[in-house]
Amino acid sequence: MERKDFTLFDLMKRFPNEHSCMVHLFNQKWTLGYHCIKCLSIESKQGKTSYNKRCKSCGYEE
Ligand SMILES: [Zn+2]
Repeated sequence: MERKDFTLFDLMKRFPNEHSCMVHLFNQKWTLGYHCIKCLSIESKQGKTSYNKRCKSCGYEE
């Protein structure tokens, strides 16, 4: 079995459920602090769900 590709599927298998996986991704993604990928603003507010952040400047949500 090839192990050179670390996929999201591999990651998800390591977690007991989707929630803990999302929390892990969420923490990893913004571990150095949030910045908007569109306008590079560092100010954000809560998005639609607790896993989303919305840029305060341009409103881009990710
Ligand atoms: Zn923005």
